Amino acid sequence: MFQAIMSARCGRSEDARPHPKVGALVVRQGSVVGTAYRGELAAGEHAEFTLLQKKVPTEDLGGTTLFTTLEPCTTRNHPKKPCVEWILERGIHTVFVGMLDPNPQVYEQGVRRLRNAGISVDFFPADCREMMRSDNDAFIEQFKASPDLTGKVSFNFTHNEGKFTLGHGELTFQTRWSNASNSRIHVYTGGN
Ligand SMILES: [Zn+2]
Repeated sequence: MFQAIMSARCGRSEDARPHPKVGALVVRQGSVVGTAYRGELAAGEHAEFTLLQKKVPTEDLGGTTLFTTLEPCTTRNHPKKPCVEWILERGIHTVFVGMLDPNPQVYEQGVRRLRNAGISVDFFPADCREMMRSDNDAFIEQFKASPDLTGKVSFNFTHNEGKFTLGHGELTFQTRWSNASNSRIHVYTGGN
């Protein structure tokens, strides 16, 4: 897990937007078969894809364990395949996930997809998760705030204690939300 985190730290963002630092490592019986990080071979290419499809494309990975610092993605724009598909087709037995993807469109989907396919999924321990949280500060922060003054935004109101910041400068609004029932949510004004 530590090695996957160290590998993730080599990643560099391909543009001005915040992107996650992601490292992936595949292990058979205690020996590392391969390792990769996001953007290692080409800008923006995902770590799991880089590892499975580019670095060890012909290796028999049946029964191996994959460590990945970020929950594997479940959707990519065609013709790219999501990382869960690469994982499933290689016969990997166990996946250790560093942190769930804070993007509300991806959150928990990768883990669910792997588990539904019969793959054993577990998580890195708390101290490792804390390292990844601080390494991915800017990436995580964008799902707690949107600087736009118009338009649409989507966020998970069960994250960040229900707080989400809208706008910027003098027009910055700290909003707060919580669950009310299965079909309703509360929005708070001035604490109430
Ligand atoms: Zn991916």
